[in-house]
Amino acid sequence: MTPVQSFPKTDAEVIIIGAGPAGTIAAFELAKQGISVLILEKAIFPRYKVCGAGLTHKILCEIPFDLSPVFETTINTICFSTGLKEVFTRTSPDPIIYCSMREKLDAFLLSQAVAAGARVIHGVHAQDVKQSINQVEVITRTGSYRSKLLIGADGASSMVARVSGLRDNLLPGLAWEAEIKTNSDAINRFSNTVFLDWGSFPGGYGWVFPKKDHFSVGVGGPAHLSKWMMLYYQQFMNYFMDGLQNFSSSIPHYETSSLKSWPIPVRVKKSRFINDKVVVVGDAGGLTDPLTGEGIYYAIRSGKLAAEACSDYLQGKSSKMDQYSLSVNEALMTELLEANRIRYLFNTVPGKIHHFVRDSDRAWRAFGKVLRGERWYADVRRGFGKWRILWGTACRISKQISDRKERKFLRNGKIRTITSS
Ligand SMILES: Cc1cc2nc3c(=O)[nH]c(=O)nc-3n(C[C@H](O)[C@H](O)[C@H](O)COP(=O)(O)OP(=O)(O)OC[C@H]3O[C@@H](n4cnc5c(N)ncnc54)[C@H](O)[C@@H]3O)c2cc1C
Repeated sequence: MTPVQSFPKTDAEVIIIGAGPAGTIAAFELAKQGISVLILEKAIFPRYKVCGAGLTHKILCEIPFDLSPVFETTINTICFSTGLKEVFTRTSPDPIIYCSMREKLDAFLLSQAVAAGARVIHGVHAQDVKQSINQVEVITRTGSYRSKLLIGADGASSMVARVSGLRDNLLPGLAWEAEIKTNSDAINRFSNTVFLDWGSFPGGYGWVFPKKDHFSVGVGGPAHLSKWMMLYYQQFMNYFMDGLQNFSSSIPHYETSSLKSWPIPVRVKKSRFINDKVVVVGDAGGLTDPLTGEGIYYAIRSGKLAAEACSDYLQGKSSKMDQYSLSVNEALMTELLEANRIRYLFNTVPGKIHHFVRDSDRAWRAFGKVLRGERWYADVRRGFGKWRILWGTACRISKQISDRKERKFLRNGKIRTITSS
């Protein structure tokens, strides 16, 4: 993939810190308009990144080139459970998710940005950002870089967001994930199936994504419940391996690699995503789905919105970058806040929602359509029409119940898989 480039200290119109999906898509969009872009990335690509790399179908509408070279599997089936019980499977006639590996996806997106004209320097760890009247300076251990505008695409622990005062209204989430190698029959048998366990503890969920030659298995939830996550991970692994036993004579032998945890920041209020000439995108802006932990789609959407705002500013179409905050709040936060309301509802009655998806074709179709980008969380509220106020009230009440449940869980801490409710 992209060779490590040594590039002399330089200026660019836009510097982007971080070459994840948010940064590379922003770089691609700017470079193709002839704007000079420099990406500073601390890692040497290709690099492993802990992530399920499950790409919901709706991403395809946002990517202006063919992404299929990085797909390892195509998913049209989800095997649901709650508390690792009450298992059922639902299949969609159309693909709903594509699974990749982040080293492949990120290297591919970066190669597209470079092909469009973006420059990249690997192995540069940005340490600080200073703004003056007409430029932004990025300080690194090996020197500093100057630009007119800066995009902070430096992920969940974003230095840019921290030094620019853009880390308010964040709910810290956490996820653990590992790559699991097991016998190839099992991997082939489930190459179109995602396993999803939800409702085992407040806000917690577990997933299995099938890849070309292994499974990615992970669990996630609110960071303050992290103490229970490893226990849940072990139970989830046992549940999954026991399930695979049905397809072979004994529990398949498996090997675990890269078991790691990583934060998932979730923005829970409309906020500022810009400080003068500095904007934050993707995880740096806390733009992840509070219900599912999905972040790549929002990284790509915010990367595109940031590129548009930078381009308008540089071409003199707008005198300030404020438009970026407005568009993120309007286009992305409205949807993410709706997802947060649904999360409260789910935490209040996980079993009922599980049964609803199992028993109602309409509910399953709606679920599939949200993953495919044919419907949005906000449509749930709209669907209530003139009774919309009822939906708002139900969400408010469920937030109180959900908070109470979480406090109780913190006191008594029992995962539903140990003590079934
Ligand atoms: C366990 C787990 C599983 C997940 N699974 C999924 C999933 O299946 N689907 C999904 O859509 N989302 C998933 N997510 C969320 C997803 O990983 C993120 O939302 C997504 O990576 C955000 O992209 P980004 O470009 O904003 O940041 P990142 O992908 O984190 O990229 C940030 C980049 O910035 C670089 N960087 C950081 N700091 C600096 C610095 N100071 N100087 C220079 N470079 C720097 C990093 O090396 C990195 O390359 C998962 C998250 C976790 C933790």
